Amino acid sequence: MTSTTAFWLAGRQATGETTFDVTSPWDGHTVGTVSVPTDAQVEEAVSAAHAVREDFAATPAHTRAAALDHVSRRLVERTEEIARLISAENGKPVKWARGEVGRAVSVFRFAAEEARRFNGGEAQRLDTDAGGQGRLAFTRRFPKGVVLGIAPFNFPLNLCAHKIAPAIAAGAPIILKPAPATPLSGLILGELLAETELPAGSWSILPVPNDRMPALVQDERLPVISFTGSETVGYAIMDSVPRKHCTLELGGNGAAVVLADFASDEDLDRAAQRIATFSNYQGGQSCISVQRVIADASVYDRLLPRIVAAVEAQVTGDPNDDATDVGPLVSEAAAQRVESWVDEATAAGAKLLTGGKRDGASYAPTVLTDVPADATIAREEVFGPVLTVQKVDGEAAAFAAVNDSKYGLQAGVFTHDLQTAFRAHRALEVGGVVIGDVPSYRADQMPYGGAKQSGVGREGVKFAMDDYTYERVMVLTGL
Ligand code: NAD
Repeated sequence: MTSTTAFWLAGRQATGETTFDVTSPWDGHTVGTVSVPTDAQVEEAVSAAHAVREDFAATPAHTRAAALDHVSRRLVERTEEIARLISAENGKPVKWARGEVGRAVSVFRFAAEEARRFNGGEAQRLDTDAGGQGRLAFTRRFPKGVVLGIAPFNFPLNLCAHKIAPAIAAGAPIILKPAPATPLSGLILGELLAETELPAGSWSILPVPNDRMPALVQDERLPVISFTGSETVGYAIMDSVPRKHCTLELGGNGAAVVLADFASDEDLDRAAQRIATFSNYQGGQSCISVQRVIADASVYDRLLPRIVAAVEAQVTGDPNDDATDVGPLVSEAAAQRVESWVDEATAAGAKLLTGGKRDGASYAPTVLTDVPADATIAREEVFGPVLTVQKVDGEAAAFAAVNDSKYGLQAGVFTHDLQTAFRAHRALEVGGVVIGDVPSYRADQMPYGGAKQSGVGREGVKFAMDDYTYERVMVLTGL
């Protein structure tokens, strides 16, 4: 019997009239029971955030920075407990979950640093034209208003951190909505925020059911929507509120390119190892997971067996076990979808080199070659532990293959050549090009986001703060 986990309404714990259970995708046990806010409670949170917005924007930077530093420190202290919780509700192997807590620690620390730096003000002389003589423009950034943050299940702590921490750093109140499969990791941030001196209305964490989200999305008191999740839901939200400021951090089918100069045994061992690890990292449920390997014909035959061997060496099993590399997917339905896409590809002629088996919510690490270009798995985001390997002739063909996707989140290019790196940076239609590694590298302070249908806008603490605020000019006259 688990006790009910309260949600956070305007900085304090509250419970509603209904609950839902959070279950482990690994063994189906109930990880927790979460209270659902009523419509009246959601309204209370929104009106409290709206009411506090001017006062919060005026809170001294040192107060907001101290609160962010506090959360960062407390995450360090509670790492093991929180990592176990992430692992339990999400199915992510605990070793990866510890890494996720470490990243959230950094996000709050970066936000504290940015809170101290942000909005110093910039002066611009206007007397470069006669009409501006005697005038000076002075610029500061102010919050656009209350932020509605909507988070996905796959990084249930860190992607909540990426919504909350920049909002606090920028002085913008936030209503955060964690994912229904993994609300507990987001709600735990409330325990740490409640230990700070932040004004009560400045933050709420509300596990609102999806069918009640349209009302919140439409609420005019929430002018900024920061969404991370699927392409379908993200664009439906943006299309429903064309006049709001929406940031969409969506999906991808990340490519890792291995070029002809990356050819020594050591190079290919390393590329194969990185590819195998980051196509299976959290069961492939990362938006920058390696889904497509695009290998130059001159290295393909030596690379492919190395990839298969490295994929087969991934340890699958209980996410709570320190040795496990690959746990279950978030649900059995997710694993069934992955299975159906692999089956569709093999029926159409793709070769299955390893994997291809499902057991409940678990799907075996899988490698496919000869995948027809129109197969679902070649075009859509698989969000599972499946890799397709494709042979191409030369750099230009490799870059064209990367760009042959509706998505454009990040790409990895294994090369030693600086000129090639610059050409890749110019040619690849993605938000980030990682040279010498897989596309799956993300540092939490760098600008992160997509081109094409991978989204709109950038996260990364400072970039989210830019997004949550706008520049307001003050013109001084008579100087
Ligand atoms: P999802 O789109 O199903 O859900 C995301 C969030 O939206 C959840 O909190 C969900 O409850 C909420 N939601 C669902 N319907 C809604 C509605 N009508 N109105 C408002 N909110 C609604 O995504 P998911 O399955 O949780 O996450 C996986 C997706 O997230 C993948 O596509 C992945 O690539 C993407 N993702 C992107 C990034 C990035 O930074 N680009 C990072 C992580 C995950």
